[in-house]
Amino acid sequence: MTARRRSNAVRVGKLTVGGDAPITVQSMTNTDPRDREATLRQVRALALRGCDLVRLAVPDRGAASIFSYLKEQGITVPLVADIHFDYKIALEAVAAGADKIRINPGNVGSRDNVAAVVRACRAAGVPIRIGVNGGSLERPLLERYGAPTAEAIAESALGHAAILESLDFFDTVISVKSSDVKTMIDANRILAEKTDYPLHLGVTEAGGLKRGMIKGAIGVGTLLSEGIGDTVRVSLTADPLEEVAAAREILSALGLDPTAGIDVVSCPTCGRTKIDLIPLLAAFEKGLDERGLRKKKLKVAFMGCAVNGPGEAREADIGIAGGDGEALLFKRGETIAKYPADRIVEVLLDEIEKSFPT
Ligand code: SF4
Repeated sequence: MTARRRSNAVRVGKLTVGGDAPITVQSMTNTDPRDREATLRQVRALALRGCDLVRLAVPDRGAASIFSYLKEQGITVPLVADIHFDYKIALEAVAAGADKIRINPGNVGSRDNVAAVVRACRAAGVPIRIGVNGGSLERPLLERYGAPTAEAIAESALGHAAILESLDFFDTVISVKSSDVKTMIDANRILAEKTDYPLHLGVTEAGGLKRGMIKGAIGVGTLLSEGIGDTVRVSLTADPLEEVAAAREILSALGLDPTAGIDVVSCPTCGRTKIDLIPLLAAFEKGLDERGLRKKKLKVAFMGCAVNGPGEAREADIGIAGGDGEALLFKRGETIAKYPADRIVEVLLDEIEKSFPT
């Protein structure tokens, strides 16, 4: 792991993005913002799952009132308004209490329009995220570079940032995304060299659950391991809650999630496995959620046999090693007892519940 790149610290509601602040996780609602109840439910669910910032698309002017509604309902997770082209929606979103605006100043028409957005954001202490995607690059850059290359995407983002700088506005976060993982990585590397703005990382249009998680993990994970990135979104064609879970897993795999709780190491099973480990692990994961045990800071080993199992389990705080229709329970390297396979998950969950503090 490379030391973290030094970026500007930008306030987003109660959070700081960039500087020394922990790397934050974002997702986006997929409810219609005019359906207030459904949107409220989804924002609450995302916050509960560990989403640090929730972004909402604001497709038209009436929709911006969702921000004041969510605040009135007690939502404290910072909210980001995602706006394309219409600067008046941005003004409405700021007035309605959005904590951050995602808008590209080069796409909102006259300099007066940009100045109006900047004035409103400055007065409300609201930062602006510039978000450039390979698929929506400006035509002149596309013509000059011949394709949405990493250089073209980075140049576009810096161009938008320069418009804000010319209005003396520096409370800016930048994202440069592409559905091509390598392009996204390279574009961020270029920006990391050229600017101090905090960087929002993500592979866009990454695909469904499995493919999207892999692309996101490679793109976001590679950059984070190089010390690049301040806030992340794993974009998936799936339930937004899955995006949060995936982003948290990436951060926790790199030791970058201070809120990380239980770490489960489990063996892949092989010809030696005599216990049905795959459904047992699924039942264990489900039990962790149902009993609210995820936040406990401990390492659990879930091993299929007594060949490698006990060795791995010794490194863990607690664990099991499967036998023939039964399993050994280990705790801090000591064998505690042997249990039938159909009882081991419950025993393990009970032990975690009673013996380890949250
Ligand atoms: S721990 Fe045992 S069952 Fe699991 S993969 Fe290793 S040898 Fe096979």
